[in-house]
Amino acid sequence: MGELLGKIEQLNQITSILEPSEEERHQLFQKVDALANSFLNKLPETPTYSGASVDRDLSIKETPQELSDLLDLYKTEVSEKGINAASAGHLGYIPGGGLYLSALADYLVDITNEYAGVHFASPGAVAIENEVINWLKSTFGFPETAIGNLTSGGSIANLIALTAARDKYGVKNEKITKSVIYLSAQVHHCIQKALRIIGLEDVIVREIELDEEFRLQPSLITSAIQQDRSDGLTPFMVIASAGTTDTGVVDPLKTIGELCQREKLWYHIDAAYGGFFIMVPQTQSLFEGIELADSLVIDPHKGLFLPYGVGAVLVKDKKAVMHSHYYTANYMQDTISDSNPTNPADVSPELTKHFRGFRAWLPLQIYGKEVFRACLEEKLLLTEYFRQKLVEMGFKVGPKPDLSVSYFWYPAKNQDSNAYNQQLINLLMKDGEVFFSSTLINGLFVIRIAILSFRTKIETIDKALSMIERAQRMLNGKFKNYRMQ
Ligand SMILES: *Cc1c(COP(=O)(O)O)cnc(C)c1O
Repeated sequence: MGELLGKIEQLNQITSILEPSEEERHQLFQKVDALANSFLNKLPETPTYSGASVDRDLSIKETPQELSDLLDLYKTEVSEKGINAASAGHLGYIPGGGLYLSALADYLVDITNEYAGVHFASPGAVAIENEVINWLKSTFGFPETAIGNLTSGGSIANLIALTAARDKYGVKNEKITKSVIYLSAQVHHCIQKALRIIGLEDVIVREIELDEEFRLQPSLITSAIQQDRSDGLTPFMVIASAGTTDTGVVDPLKTIGELCQREKLWYHIDAAYGGFFIMVPQTQSLFEGIELADSLVIDPHKGLFLPYGVGAVLVKDKKAVMHSHYYTANYMQDTISDSNPTNPADVSPELTKHFRGFRAWLPLQIYGKEVFRACLEEKLLLTEYFRQKLVEMGFKVGPKPDLSVSYFWYPAKNQDSNAYNQQLINLLMKDGEVFFSSTLINGLFVIRIAILSFRTKIETIDKALSMIERAQRMLNGKFKNYRMQ
């Protein structure tokens, strides 16, 4: 016994460092807070893109390191490398945000370390998660009986939704190769990933021909369904997008929803990028029919400007979700009660999960919905402003966008347009003040505009415009020299 107590005391001497005193906590916090503030203060002047290589040693050392040194590593190797996702100038892919209040919410959640998987463990945390889901249900016209989950992002949210569709229609074994999904070539690639993960790699996927602006054409879906049925196949799901990643287009949600009801198919809508634009009057009508979906995905870490790490899924058929996700283990028997609200763990592959609801709940409560609506409307108007300015500068722009994703290209004379615009994006990336990404639209090389960060303001767009002018001056000079040779 004496030996045992001696050893325990010895270990206690070593491990008590894990619980810093108030004074130590204060010092640690101040260092982190200083870096956070200096990052935010300098953000307006910091480039949005700056190379993508790590130069210093980040390996874990045998000996204890100093926090100040490690924060310096964080600063130079993490926060100053690659795409600065917190920056107003992030106009590539789908931009992020990172509300300060959500960071504070995460801090508190990590300190109290809420167990947000089951009601029994943290009824308050689960209630907050469910209130965020209730808010989403009412925003998107879903019934109170629908269930939902806050996931790590849109990809896992889509995974949960597609799993529910699979289980509702019993797509397994020999049924897989006869079951058909209808979608657009513009769906996000996480859909294909999810199908492989859930064992539906061999399901028949029909890519429906799109209209000129890359929208699904409901009449072509209907005729494909009829053809497949008469060929002895089993249609079971249609997937639409409310804001495609590439061109920002919203599919005709209502017509597709009605056809799914008629044909008794599962209707899934991926609104990860565009969903929250339902709050803005000028775009609201595009989302008519979104309430017809059997499952819906939205990404608060995009359109609600929250830091990365929170997506959401809503599903009407609770049983379909529970089929794969609800499981009782003997050691969990204390947590079961019929009267309890939905446990997040019963709607998700995760059991122990980060309490993500608080980072959404806190800013929604403090700022109110109206601020989010205004911010999204601001993004729409900035997209319009950007396009008008580009046209004045001689650029061609894509069709009037549904939301805040669009594209442009320079119709270069006397030379290959694609090569010119490829060189232009290379120069824009080298400059890095504002970040753009590019894509191919029917073989045409174009530069994408994607405006979604709450920090993106009219000054950002003006900066982007002068950066484009700068790059063009260089490029035109170069091409002139080239022709003279
Ligand atoms: C971003 C996005 C996804 C993937 O979501 P993650 O949060 O990145 O996992 C899925 N669908 C669409 C339309 C998206 O824009």
